[in-house]
Amino acid sequence: MDKNVAWKRIPELRNILEYHNKRYYQQDDPEISDIEYDRLIRELQDLENQYPDDDLASSPTSRVGAAPLAKFASVTHPSTMLSLANAFSPEEIIDFDNRIKRLAKVDCVDYIAEPKLDGLAVNLIYEKGIFIRGATRGDGITGEDVTSNLKTISSLPLKMRQDSGKAIPSFIEIRGEVYMESKPFKKMNSRRVEEGEEPFANPRNAAAGSLRQLDPKITSRRPLNIFLYNVGEVKGIRLSSHWEVLQALKSWGFPVNPLIEQAKDIQGGIFYFEKIGKQREALPYEIDGVVLKVNDLALQAGLGAVSRNPRWALACKFPATQETTIVKDIIVQVGRTGALTPVAIMEPVNVGGVVVSRATLHNEDEIIKKDIRIGDTVIIQRAGDVIPEVVKVIAAKRTGTEKEFKMPTKCPECDSEIVRLEGEVAHRCVNMSCPAQLKEHIRHFASRGALDIEGLGEKVSAQLFDAGLIQDPSDLYFLNKDQLLALDRHGEKSAQNLIDSIKSSKTPLLDKFIFALGIRNVGERTAKLLATRFGSMENLINARIEDLTTINEIGPEIAQNIVQFFHEPKNKAIMAKFSKAGVEPQKKAATANELLQGKSFVFTGTLANMPRNTAKEIVESLGGSIHSSTTSKTTYVVAGSDPGSKLDKARLLGIKILSEEEFLKLIDR
Ligand SMILES: [Zn+2]
Repeated sequence: MDKNVAWKRIPELRNILEYHNKRYYQQDDPEISDIEYDRLIRELQDLENQYPDDDLASSPTSRVGAAPLAKFASVTHPSTMLSLANAFSPEEIIDFDNRIKRLAKVDCVDYIAEPKLDGLAVNLIYEKGIFIRGATRGDGITGEDVTSNLKTISSLPLKMRQDSGKAIPSFIEIRGEVYMESKPFKKMNSRRVEEGEEPFANPRNAAAGSLRQLDPKITSRRPLNIFLYNVGEVKGIRLSSHWEVLQALKSWGFPVNPLIEQAKDIQGGIFYFEKIGKQREALPYEIDGVVLKVNDLALQAGLGAVSRNPRWALACKFPATQETTIVKDIIVQVGRTGALTPVAIMEPVNVGGVVVSRATLHNEDEIIKKDIRIGDTVIIQRAGDVIPEVVKVIAAKRTGTEKEFKMPTKCPECDSEIVRLEGEVAHRCVNMSCPAQLKEHIRHFASRGALDIEGLGEKVSAQLFDAGLIQDPSDLYFLNKDQLLALDRHGEKSAQNLIDSIKSSKTPLLDKFIFALGIRNVGERTAKLLATRFGSMENLINARIEDLTTINEIGPEIAQNIVQFFHEPKNKAIMAKFSKAGVEPQKKAATANELLQGKSFVFTGTLANMPRNTAKEIVESLGGSIHSSTTSKTTYVVAGSDPGSKLDKARLLGIKILSEEEFLKLIDR
């Protein structure tokens, strides 16, 4: 084809293909066959190969071209993705508004009210208007790189439009939610059932599962959609209100939920909450509440965040969905820490779109309190992502044949004596080598939030354990391929894959490794705090209780658990095996979390924007430390109003003094 003809045909083909993408994915009403579609794609691909132009990155061909991945790369978000605090009643919404008014010293706050979609949060990066990278939210700091999969979502512009409105920023982080509409979801599910595949439990799972597909071709055949609703880091332009952000997103061609409204005050927000609640069933997608956000971005910045929740936004959740069903049995599960959890096995029932057949009963006290018996008719509820729970028994439906539940006296897995320690609600199997606990321990070690060892799920870890190949997680690193091949279920390829993924987990991030060890009461957040404070496994192992309790969120109980864990001879042996195998936890790369690493602060006077305790928490969460008196080792003295003698001393010692404003800037609020 002649060059001039090609340069006309290329944009035209792109246009045609975008049109068909929309018909196919968004309207679920294709006009052309897959074969014709593929022919157009190939024609465009050929022309682009001969005559590459600047718009290649945003071409429809880039939506389908990517090859399957072996594993998602993990990426650090330029700015942390916070999670929202929840409210379940209008009273809690009013409390939220009162708190803001008090902190900001204003009489009235205007809000932006948005439907809260039940999907998967993502973070997108555009440079000079071109889509560069997209990641799942993950833990808010790092997520999985799902760029190729996001590109298959036809409603997501690969290139920002500039028709009118805001100029295109040189760099921007855009936040949104990937979701699946209810109708295409149902259609897809019935297709899956026809083809003998497992249906997805709900649109949220389907959206998450589709976005986390290693093969983008599969993702491209799933009816995914996206709404964008916020921005993170922005360079090159100024935005002053959340409403302006939404208008800018729209003008750049991003899908923004048309139901978003401005609310002049909190009453307007509550009115919106009730209004959307009534429309809920009629919407084409599932929502679980509404989100209220402070409109003024300067005010948002001033309010900052507590822990991981911004003070300027609130998720107002609709009441949980309830259903009635029958408890067929109550079984007992043994967890990683030996705790026994009774679980109700129920007649399967659809609760707000999800089929539920199990509900946790937490512990024996809970069963006694609610008087739940086997055979009872019960009301169960599910709120958002929370595990379903039994609300109450309908006693009027009892026939007299119901059976009371008795906590077993022997562990269902190892037959050891069950004990109930003083001050604890849980019954425990205290046999350190209880197979249920050991298996659970290994599964936890390999799980996504921990070392994320691909291919080592519940079944495989149990299989390796039962075959006597591993006793604890450190044994994983001594496995060889022949041992795996000797087990059924493992072919040459899957054995090699497992060996490879175990090997590639040898340099975990320190916090992930600490979490993976399964120390009691040390969750992901605590593991992060410990990693930040101690910096190496060696320092943590040698930490004393009084060192540990200097961390704000660690009290004597957790500190005791940690010290005990590393003193336990069996655990010492395991740690030694890790070293022998060459497992070396890595100090985390500097992220926003360690912004203040090694910096020490002294506060004097009153802060206008936040209580001193909050300031303290923020500094510590960013890796800094707080001291009560100024010494030559102090990095900064933060002076609020009416500062005391600490300020004079700081001047004397030549320590850097920060005003409250400078401090807020430093901590990026
Ligand atoms: Zn046991």
